[in-house]
Amino acid sequence: MQLDDLYQEIILDHYKSPRNFRQIPDDEAMVDEENPTCGDHIKLIAAVEDGVLSDVKIQCEGCAICTASSSMMTEKMIGLKVAEVRGWIRDFTEMMRGGPDLPEEDLDDLMALRGVKKYPLRIKCATMAWHALEDALKQLGA
Ligand code: ZN
Repeated sequence: MQLDDLYQEIILDHYKSPRNFRQIPDDEAMVDEENPTCGDHIKLIAAVEDGVLSDVKIQCEGCAICTASSSMMTEKMIGLKVAEVRGWIRDFTEMMRGGPDLPEEDLDDLMALRGVKKYPLRIKCATMAWHALEDALKQLGA
């Protein structure tokens, strides 16, 4: 498979300097998930205040796609209302599974991940952080 197409500049930028990442001890992690097909490992913490996703922290040990998607997800979702976040999780994961493309002006950096759709084995890498956030929201009762 041709990985070159995937490793665009935006993805590499997030991979090299991921946003909202920190080490998360096991007993603090709200979500702890592994992607056996790629070896990606994500831990996530989220906080909701007054119906707004006020914070997300991620520890991601994985490939560039997983790391970049995690970083982009936090950048895009923090500060949004929970209902908006849920909409994004649904629309983004659907898009990655072959559903309709979201408008470019809404996607920003996430646009770089659209190419991953062509590589079925990597789709999980791109959607993992989003499902982890969904799990965390459930736990928060948000
Ligand atoms: Zn991966």
